[in-house]
Amino acid sequence: ETLDKGLEKSKTSFLGKLGKAVAGKSKVDDEVLDNLEEVLVTSDVGVDTTLKIIERIEERVSRDKYLGTEELNTILREEIAGLLSETNVGEESEFVVPTDKKPYVIMVVGVNGVGKTTTIGKLAHQFKSQGLKVVLGAADTFRAAAIDQLQVWADRVDVPIIKQQMGSDPASVAFDTLNSAVAEGADVVLVDTAGRLHNKVNLMNELSKVKRVMQKVVPDAPHDVLLVLDGSTGQNAFEQAKQFTKATEVSSLAVTKLDGTAKGGVVIGISDQFQIPVRYIGVGEGIDDLQVFNKYEFVDSFFK
Ligand code: GDP
Repeated sequence: ETLDKGLEKSKTSFLGKLGKAVAGKSKVDDEVLDNLEEVLVTSDVGVDTTLKIIERIEERVSRDKYLGTEELNTILREEIAGLLSETNVGEESEFVVPTDKKPYVIMVVGVNGVGKTTTIGKLAHQFKSQGLKVVLGAADTFRAAAIDQLQVWADRVDVPIIKQQMGSDPASVAFDTLNSAVAEGADVVLVDTAGRLHNKVNLMNELSKVKRVMQKVVPDAPHDVLLVLDGSTGQNAFEQAKQFTKATEVSSLAVTKLDGTAKGGVVIGISDQFQIPVRYIGVGEGIDDLQVFNKYEFVDSFFK
């Protein structure tokens, strides 16, 4: 229900545009496909993924000879769910932290302003509600505000946070965090890192160093590298995904602010282009406004 509410903008807008794309047409022809292409691109699905979807629909049109516009919804839905299936975990309704990895270490990356801190706070809340012991690490040390904000969330959720002065070495904070987590017998550690995209080499060096140092405490850490992207920023989100996947091995995505955009299509494009599963979506500023991504619900919210 919240998902429907949160994605209302994407939904109405996508369906509305789709309606226009097929208006007055009884079958899927070149003009409908051109219009559809525009709908997908303007919904931030991204050019490459849009072309892939159009190609698949063209194949079906030529195979079935006649394809009515009323079937287009169904087929689009199938194709989009299919694309998401190729990368996505997205079928569970809850992410379960593996019990054989203790502490389970999630390194969270992303530029400032995308909702990284908020996502960490919401995740900490979810894990804590599942009865897990959570520790936060404030290794995004470049801005005092980043550390302060994480502290606010740590207080709100009531979980311990390990931090140092602004400007201190992120790797050192990560090291302290993991040591403390091990000592406390924590189940999950969320380490906030790198909030700026200065240049690729720096970013890569900083993240590798954080990883290396973490591994001195927990040899197979991090178990997950979660990249947070702002879903309302379209091309910027793609660009950030490109930079971060070059700098480190990103294993899952959280796409935020999908409540505030008519462009939820970015989820489809990014998941397809980078072949990384979208694990969470943010649909509001509140503590409960983070959802485990479910591809069927997501696709349906576009087409219902
Ligand atoms: P950070 O700099 O990446 O750590 O970003 P913050 O977590 O501080 O978030 C930046 C702003 O985005 C804050 O005002 C958050 O409340 C807001 N925000 C984060 N996630 C969401 C979301 O899913 N939906 C909405 N509407 N706002 C969000």
